[in-house]
Amino acid sequence: MASSLRQNRGNQLLGLNFQELSLLVQSHKQPDYRARQLFEAIYTQRQADLESISTLPRNFRAILRDQGVEIGAPTIEKSFPSVDGTIRYLIAMTDGETVETVWMPEGDGGEEADGSEAGDETTEKGFDRATICVSSQIGCAVNCQFCLTAQLGVKRNLTAGEIIGQVIAVLNDRRVDMERHRIIIVFMGMGEPFLNYPEFMKAVRLLVEGVGFSESRMTVSTSGIVPRIYDFGSEPVRPKLAISLNAPNDQLRERIMPLNRKWNLEVLMQAARDFPLRNRERITFEYVLLRDVNDRLEHARQVVELLRGIRCKVNLIALNPGPGIAFATPDQERVHAFQQVLMAGGIPAFIRRPRGLDIYAACGQLKRTVA
Ligand code: SAH
Ligand code: SF4
Repeated sequence: MASSLRQNRGNQLLGLNFQELSLLVQSHKQPDYRARQLFEAIYTQRQADLESISTLPRNFRAILRDQGVEIGAPTIEKSFPSVDGTIRYLIAMTDGETVETVWMPEGDGGEEADGSEAGDETTEKGFDRATICVSSQIGCAVNCQFCLTAQLGVKRNLTAGEIIGQVIAVLNDRRVDMERHRIIIVFMGMGEPFLNYPEFMKAVRLLVEGVGFSESRMTVSTSGIVPRIYDFGSEPVRPKLAISLNAPNDQLRERIMPLNRKWNLEVLMQAARDFPLRNRERITFEYVLLRDVNDRLEHARQVVELLRGIRCKVNLIALNPGPGIAFATPDQERVHAFQQVLMAGGIPAFIRRPRGLDIYAACGQLKRTVA
């Protein structure tokens, strides 16, 4: 069973890059330009099945079909609309596993492609801009104590095709025209993208080369997988970087993020300082505020010290609570006071408003809730 599933996923076109499609086309003795036709049909036109690729000759389509080749697009199993316009999608892979992908329409707020602008509400039905929050794994192994996804453990990595497939499913459902709409992608859904690095990066390249995203409209968030931060910095094409800081000292960070025992703040901050930023680019540090745990003014002052000399900004997120999470949400005044200390210390700090709280779509709430 497992091997036949793998076999099945091996026959899927979604996730293949141009070179791989070229090899496929050559193995069928088809002219080289068919690879370009396939690439454009799958990624730029976002076709869901082979039959609808009318640029390909009927007999070639039939041969592929007879061999069990398919595009292999994930399908939307369910969608949960929030009162604030956010939609949480439960998306099924071809082996039946599901992940969550979140659509957040935006108004005309500032645009930084790191989620900080995702609090802007849209008043109309339509949209010009939106953010899609994409998952990189089924579940997560990192075990942050405040995160609901952690409770799932990790089931498996997603393939590049499954990562890009989430984006395509949502773009098609929302009838997005890439020429007309400004869409941002954040890799901040379920999973740790840097523990699925090759497939994540392959998906990034396909989104840029095929679907039409620019690297500056994508941000990836990592909990701090230090060796991959270095790899990421040397990629010729890459999204912007966000790091989930969440605590200003090792003692506290270890308690809420056990991975800090492997890569502590010293090595993490060194990686941040070594990270080669592009023109006008900044690293985003995310900081989930947990009441009376990491939200004191003294912690804010420690954050200022820690980030000194790094071209960065901080996104503050008041904890989104959930069942089995042993932390509480600080009140607004505390969040604002924390922000003030950072700003006074010269660090731009933004408060992220939760989106889709009522449908379990907000940060750290993705756990495949089905009702
Ligand atoms: N695994 C990656 C990306 C997904 S999590 C990472 O951890 O960076 C995206 C963000 O949600 C992280 O910054 C994380 O700290 C935050 N988060 C997790 N659980 C949360 C919760 N319950 N409330 C608010 N933010 C949370
Ligand atoms: Fe995984 Fe990120 Fe959740 Fe931590 S916060 S458990 S790294 S998804």
